[in-house]
Amino acid sequence: MAGGVELGFAAAADPEDAWRLRSAYFPSKLGGRPAWLGEDGLPGPGALRCARCQQPRAFLLQLYAPLPGRHDTFHRSLFVFACRGAACYRLPGPGGPLCVFRSQLPRRNRFYPEEPPPEEPPPGPVAPPGRLRSGVRLCRVCGCLGPRACGRCHRAAYCGTEHQALDWLRGHRHTCGQAGDAGGSPAGPLPGGLVFKVFDSAM
Ligand SMILES: [Zn+2]
Ligand SMILES: [Zn+2]
Ligand SMILES: [Zn+2]
Repeated sequence: MAGGVELGFAAAADPEDAWRLRSAYFPSKLGGRPAWLGEDGLPGPGALRCARCQQPRAFLLQLYAPLPGRHDTFHRSLFVFACRGAACYRLPGPGGPLCVFRSQLPRRNRFYPEEPPPEEPPPGPVAPPGRLRSGVRLCRVCGCLGPRACGRCHRAAYCGTEHQALDWLRGHRHTCGQAGDAGGSPAGPLPGGLVFKVFDSAM
């Protein structure tokens, strides 16, 4: 621990500043959907299931933590996922309710300019992305990889049956197949029960 310990404190995000929580601004944040850094090697639904109860872990937080002095860690983010089941923290044994994924990129990469992002909001509305730039679809509920599609409209994507059922109940059954429902993540607060919604108030 040559560099000592750095403490961070969570503060509620001003909805006006929601744009700062997008990937292009390299945020550290608590709750909401992950703002993925790179697009390669994202954890799939299987990797995100709790090793104990097999339910999808929820995104807890991400930390932007670049390592100076190294070419390959010019950008570096850590993503922490946690099971919401309290019982899973009491059970002994290998695997567990928490997991951490690391994503890192050199300064010159195919996702971001080499210079820091401008200190001003991007033009247009800041909707949660329904897919990665590569076209890979993200779950409408949690923002993780969504390889499963709604069987009716084939546009809404999900990480698994749990989030598909949740989205159906919270409104997709009414909007499925309608022109206004393009399949991306709906705006508005994240549903409780399966994902953390703490300070990411704009989501
Ligand atoms: Zn669990
Ligand atoms: Zn999901
Ligand atoms: Zn549908």
